[in-house]
Amino acid sequence: MYPDQDFEQLSAERPTTSGKSPEQVLHEVFGYESFRPLQGEIIHEVVSGGDALVLMPTGGGKSLCYQVPALVRPGTAIVVSPLIALMQDQVAALRELGVRAAFLNSTMDFEQARATEYALSTGELDLLYCAPERLIQPRTLELLHDASISLFAIDEAHCVSQWGHDFRSDYLQLAVLANEFPSIPRIALTATADERTRKEIAERLSLTNARHFISGFDRPNIQYRIAPKTNVNKQLLDFIKAEHEAHCGIVYCLSRNKVDATAKMLAQKGYTALPYHAGLPATDRARNQERFLREDGVIIVATIAFGMGIDKPDVRFVAHLDLPKSLEAYYQETGRAGRDGKPSTAWMVYGLQDVIKLRQMLEASQGNDHFKRIERQKLDAMLGLCEVTKCRRQVLLNYFGDELEAPCGNCDTCLNPPETWDGTVAVQKALSCVFRTGQRFGVTHLIDVLRGSVNERVQQLGHNQVSTYGIGTELSANEWKSVFRQLVANGYLRADPEGYGALQLTEQCRPLLKGEHKVELRKDPVIKTSSSRSSSSRSGNAVKDQVTDHVGWEALRACRKQLAEKQGVPPYVIFHDTTLFDMLERKPETLDELAGVSGVGAAKLEKYGEIFLAAIAELDQA
Ligand code: ADP
Ligand code: ZN
Repeated sequence: MYPDQDFEQLSAERPTTSGKSPEQVLHEVFGYESFRPLQGEIIHEVVSGGDALVLMPTGGGKSLCYQVPALVRPGTAIVVSPLIALMQDQVAALRELGVRAAFLNSTMDFEQARATEYALSTGELDLLYCAPERLIQPRTLELLHDASISLFAIDEAHCVSQWGHDFRSDYLQLAVLANEFPSIPRIALTATADERTRKEIAERLSLTNARHFISGFDRPNIQYRIAPKTNVNKQLLDFIKAEHEAHCGIVYCLSRNKVDATAKMLAQKGYTALPYHAGLPATDRARNQERFLREDGVIIVATIAFGMGIDKPDVRFVAHLDLPKSLEAYYQETGRAGRDGKPSTAWMVYGLQDVIKLRQMLEASQGNDHFKRIERQKLDAMLGLCEVTKCRRQVLLNYFGDELEAPCGNCDTCLNPPETWDGTVAVQKALSCVFRTGQRFGVTHLIDVLRGSVNERVQQLGHNQVSTYGIGTELSANEWKSVFRQLVANGYLRADPEGYGALQLTEQCRPLLKGEHKVELRKDPVIKTSSSRSSSSRSGNAVKDQVTDHVGWEALRACRKQLAEKQGVPPYVIFHDTTLFDMLERKPETLDELAGVSGVGAAKLEKYGEIFLAAIAELDQA
């Protein structure tokens, strides 16, 4: 995927950074002005030899927390990373910065692996990325003992958690590092961990003395929106058209079939939409991922197999066509939007069928009771977010132990507060209709009975004789659907575990059936297709939407594209959009001035400085 790892060229290129201060490394190598919140403290802890457990949202800047110490401390930093694609991207990006980085994984042949191991043993590497299964091999551990190691970084550390959604058994064995290398600092990083998982990470990785660094979870640039599902394809098209035309985005679906169908549907409407799921040949998957990373405006339609470790900064929207099974999953998936800090949208549609399907999948799963109980709680929290009538961000952050004092003003419930209504009577009617028809029917039939439909099935079953027949004409079929959805979401009704979507009463619904409790229901908002919001969110959207000098912008992008193609890397590895934008604003004329642009470090200044200065100079003449 990337050019061969050429160590000689690297070591000759790079002036030593070990012994410099973290700030110097930040400016000179990465070209950044200052540390983000917590980065400075974390780096200080690791540089001075302490262990750290870092919890930071996606896009928060975790990588620098070990990359800077890796350059400040003498020796090679070993980075454990579960995904090969991520590893390769990170190594490519670091090498662009002039950092001596390499990886060891199963894609390499014997020769390549030997060359990398040799570079490690002779101290020619600043960072070595390594797959966990590789690292714990006795042979690798022996190699590490003979080398000079600066630190161990364990990325995606929640993979040690058996209850988490990304469990990897190899991660459990990483505890050996504590015993075998007691004096070398270790830093574990993750974006998804509630308190229980955090404790599990600390225990399982023997990080009991590590300082915990927990940064705020808020991603203020992401607008969270969840709408009732009506006509999925039309809803998705309307959304993209109104707000994210020509933007890069990810669309998540639960099944492979739906991924294929949705990608095809979008492609027919003229979008560059590519499928990604485990059922595709590996070469197709790799090619689609490459195009997503390298081209502009590509929409990837994927199952959750896609995305861990995708660090493309300018993903403008993440759309969920099916409900994720936990808030952890939702947060991680939506977190792939807007890593560059620019306005982005997390958009989801969900309906009764989602709830039924997830509940059934859960009950049918193999796990033991304890496991199922935890999964049930997680799903309930996810459904809670969907049905909430107050600020969604507050609910989301609260779940992760973070607090937001005031409503955020940037989620759908803040922007368009849903009304509630007294559903006490409606709920009583719905529940008793379930009871009277024997708890054997799905929602469509129940609504037919409530609304007094004269269709054949109702007649044949004699349901035009039951006491709840025709008692619900005051609500439309859609309104009844919303009532049933909320009853299932809140656990008053459950779907028959045997399948077929038959609804059954739960113990919990007894007081409602008797009308002893008042029930407030959410009124599903009426969605206008061209909302007035779209124009305002569009104006603040992608970097390219803020550009006024389009000719200049395209010229700089062309320059970047040419370099990227020559190096065989995605364009953002050369410079991010934000860096190009800054160049266009400042129009630097000298290398010194260019060095002041955010994202321009020493290596890139030397490699690309003159080229971009020439491109900028040409702009003024045009
Ligand atoms: P994470 O791994 O936490 O998801 P990354 O480490 O990929 O996030 O960082 C997200 C983006 O923020 C990257 O593009 C990175 O270059 C940028 N970034 C990180 N720290 C800083 C900083 N101190 N100043 C400017 N940009 C930063
Ligand atoms: Zn809000």
